Amino acid sequence: MATIDFEFRNQIIQNDIGSTLAYCYQCATCSGACPVAQVTQGRYNPRRLILDALLGLKERMFGPEHSFDIWGCTVCDTCDEVCPQKVELTEIFTILKNMSVERGEAPEYYTAQASTILEFGKAIPMQSAIERRRDQLGLPKILAPDAKEVQKILKLTKLPEKLPKKEE
Ligand code: SF4
Ligand code: SF4
Repeated sequence: MATIDFEFRNQIIQNDIGSTLAYCYQCATCSGACPVAQVTQGRYNPRRLILDALLGLKERMFGPEHSFDIWGCTVCDTCDEVCPQKVELTEIFTILKNMSVERGEAPEYYTAQASTILEFGKAIPMQSAIERRRDQLGLPKILAPDAKEVQKILKLTKLPEKLPKKEE
């Protein structure tokens, strides 16, 4: 049986946005509207995630075997729009995702993208083939971001410390 972790529950509820968790009355409108719940036939379930967070059932949400429960959300915001209780689901899921990153459990596709932004200042670095094609099409050059400025900001968020270290 899952144990209630009150400290974890309070961590979410004490947050301004997280406190909206308490308004949930489990109507499941969010799950009915969620596109990820539909394509995964309920394997991803925002209503259940909200319930587990509300009850402080931390062990049902974290750990590699539960990775999809947190990271399955595509942040489309549909659930926020349909929730009759104005629960800030997407923001609550962001709190959970941040906790997952702190625990070193963020999926590789996510940390790899974050590392690319840290290195190049953008998620998809420019490639010479794309530049050549743009030239052929007469499209203007895309200015490269100032990667050092981006790195400065990301260092303030402590992102580099949270990303897995690259193997030498
Ligand atoms: S739609 Fe809102 S109130 Fe209904 S289950 Fe989802 S979060 Fe709870
Ligand atoms: S924001 Fe996430 S949980 Fe909400 S409807 Fe979109 S995919 Fe589903």
